[in-house]
Amino acid sequence: MTYQNFSLKQLQEIDAAHHLHPFTDHKDLRNAGTRIITRANGPFIYDSEGNELLDGMAGLWCVNVGYGRHELAEAAYEQMKELPYYNSFFRCSTPTPVLLAKKLAEIAPEGLSQVFYGSSGSESNDTALRLVRHYWALEGRPEKNLIISRKMAYHGSTVAGASLGGMTGMHEQLGGAVPGIVHVMMPYAFELALPGESEHDFGIRAAKAIEDAILDAGADKVAAFIGEPIQGAGGVKIPPASYWPEVQRICRKYDVLLMLDEVITGYGRTGEWFAAQSMGIEADTITTAKALTSGYQPLSALFVGDRIAKTIVDKGGEFYHGYTYAGHPVACAVALANLDVIEKEGLVDRVREETGPYFRKALTEALADKGIVGQVRTFGLMGAIEIVKDKETRERFPGEGAAAVVVRDHAIAQGMMLRATGDTMILSPPLIWTKETIDMAAERIGKALDLAEADLRK
Ligand SMILES: *Cc1c(COP(=O)(O)O)cnc(C)c1O
Repeated sequence: MTYQNFSLKQLQEIDAAHHLHPFTDHKDLRNAGTRIITRANGPFIYDSEGNELLDGMAGLWCVNVGYGRHELAEAAYEQMKELPYYNSFFRCSTPTPVLLAKKLAEIAPEGLSQVFYGSSGSESNDTALRLVRHYWALEGRPEKNLIISRKMAYHGSTVAGASLGGMTGMHEQLGGAVPGIVHVMMPYAFELALPGESEHDFGIRAAKAIEDAILDAGADKVAAFIGEPIQGAGGVKIPPASYWPEVQRICRKYDVLLMLDEVITGYGRTGEWFAAQSMGIEADTITTAKALTSGYQPLSALFVGDRIAKTIVDKGGEFYHGYTYAGHPVACAVALANLDVIEKEGLVDRVREETGPYFRKALTEALADKGIVGQVRTFGLMGAIEIVKDKETRERFPGEGAAAVVVRDHAIAQGMMLRATGDTMILSPPLIWTKETIDMAAERIGKALDLAEADLRK
């Protein structure tokens, strides 16, 4: 079936009649009409009206190699012809998940040489939660099962993902979260640092909240701490440099496992294969998904550290968990082709040495002085722009998040797709962006900010 036979209006009507969207107010959507994206190439996406947009979000934090990669399409096509599906249950597997596991072990941080597959970040966080609790049970300590997470964390949208995450709106709609998960403060200096408190001291204090939670519950009751190296959906919250080393020290001190959620930061975004390497974190599990296939296929991989893997293997017994599509041969073929592109084009090094630093410089120079910008911050190719009414006091515009939506709509009109989370604009572009693409983005966002300011100050 070709969609070209349908007008935008027809597609919107059908969408409104039959399609319930993720994270959407449907009353609002059906009034506004759905934006239909029909094709994409390199860093650009195109809607049904032919408008070209520079994609500042790499789809949804995932299309790291950009759009239109024939090598990924061909990998899928060849694999589908050869063997479209077979499972990895019952002492079986297929070649591509096996070879991908080897490749992943090669690029993984030290000590994380085994993977468990799923089809999404949420699924792999579910796996991580169950695996960590299973580990302590096998160690004869089933009561060591509490997980510490953070407010505004995003760990996906299944029941386990939403429970691990720290989004209160999601908790309210859950009708009962997975028990045994607590949430502590996030390392978000822009809003939470005390007057006069240095970034360093704030980072230590935010880590101390984890220690307090451990002491509160008793270390013999705490299984693990889970965190995104940089909180993504929560607003690209980049912790002070003092934070992660202190978190690591605390976890070691109380024998609490460290679970990293690198669903966004994995596969090059921070200028190393994993943010664990950028920040020197030694984790027991690392959840990855999104950029593993650059979004061309749904696939996730949970890296399992040697300590947990050894217990699982040595103690034996079945881990009663797994998904039909775990290690899907087509998705794994695409992941192999994707990692090949990232390697051949040197995209990880390019982010670290060239585009990451340039991204910071260009956004800061073009945007930091704008009247409604409270802060510009970046790490690798992730960026955030805080929208404020008053640059000095950091007072926000009334109606939480409303100002950022005004900025976003102007940005889209300027040919720039970026996202608003609360009062923060966020960026997570494909790793193929060049200095020229970054300049184009900075210019378009600058115009959008000027137009939004004129609207907001009316
Ligand atoms: C997107 C995301 C998830 C969830 O991944 P899905 O594939 O949407 O299930 C989990 N953790 C983080 C940090 C994410 O950004």
